[in-house]
Amino acid sequence: MKRTGRTGFYFSERCLWFSAGQAALVLPIGGWVQPVASGGHADSPESKRRLKSLMDVSGLTEQLDVIEAGPASREELLRIHTAAYIDEFKRLSDADGGALHRSAPFARGSFEIALNSAGLVRQAVLDVASGMRRNAYAVSRPSGHHCLPGTPMGFCLLANVPIAIEAARAQHGLTRVAVLDWDVHHGNGTQACFYDRADVLTISLHQHSCFPPGGSGSIDEAGEGAGLGANINVPLWPGSGHKAYIEACEHIAMPALRDFRPELIVVVNGLDANGVDPLARMLAHSDTFRTMTRMVKAVADECCDGRLVIVQEGGYAETAVPFCAHAVIEELAGVRSGVDDPYLQLLQQQQPPSAFDDAHHKELSRHPKYRQV
Ligand SMILES: [Zn+2]
Repeated sequence: MKRTGRTGFYFSERCLWFSAGQAALVLPIGGWVQPVASGGHADSPESKRRLKSLMDVSGLTEQLDVIEAGPASREELLRIHTAAYIDEFKRLSDADGGALHRSAPFARGSFEIALNSAGLVRQAVLDVASGMRRNAYAVSRPSGHHCLPGTPMGFCLLANVPIAIEAARAQHGLTRVAVLDWDVHHGNGTQACFYDRADVLTISLHQHSCFPPGGSGSIDEAGEGAGLGANINVPLWPGSGHKAYIEACEHIAMPALRDFRPELIVVVNGLDANGVDPLARMLAHSDTFRTMTRMVKAVADECCDGRLVIVQEGGYAETAVPFCAHAVIEELAGVRSGVDDPYLQLLQQQQPPSAFDDAHHKELSRHPKYRQV
């Protein structure tokens, strides 16, 4: 099969129609919480809609192959999710929407939109796994990385990336896939799906004890049984910025990826570690995400002939996320469009003092997977 050199961009307008309902940021309206004129829920489609608009205006869209994909099938879902959860989600979605967990509400018709979101990720992974395409970027909404096999969580209704990986294993016989999740929140759902498996390496860089609550994402969660050692958590201190993320990649994530020798790498590209996100307390910026993309792309070139899929999930600063995502896509596709991120200089001036970075690096160096480079 001849492989196309252009990056695939997997996008569906329909995913922007998903609604998590009315809330003030994340608090449900009611009691002392007043209605919000703008709609109010943190998981607004605006960040992703503005990204696509920015790409259209900058000319980036026309340098990519834009692809819509069919929905994920029930058979594909059942490789990860319980039948009971799928049926209950569908029943509530057909009725009037609802919530199957405290922080994963959804409106009527969300089941089909969630299938669409999972389908975009599945198709991106299949097209790269088959060798048809060197790399791909998928815009997923609703997101997936907190979703457990039987329980939705944190705006995530289906485990999009695990569903896609299982589809690639079934269709293309992949035996070693790596997931690098730099969303600011712990990728607990992806971790849970593969916790006892040696064939899928899961790495999560996240703000220490942010979400899910209760200390999820500690270094000690390293996998179990055959999967022991194939789950790596790197909790970063609140207030960490560009340097902490790059050093976590240099000293832990990238060496771990190289050691694993994956056949394909999937990045969970949450953009909520950016310094103006309302749901976290970090100071990363578009150049952080651009640099991490460059690093993981180099590892993919070394290990698996460039096979890399980047999946956009979280990110709640509606006006800042598009610039971060735009930078990632430019780097992935190897093109520049001349867009300047107006937040970049502002956030570069707000990085933590070097004493913070030095202390944090010392903490990172105690991680069991830390490698001197
Ligand atoms: Zn997140």
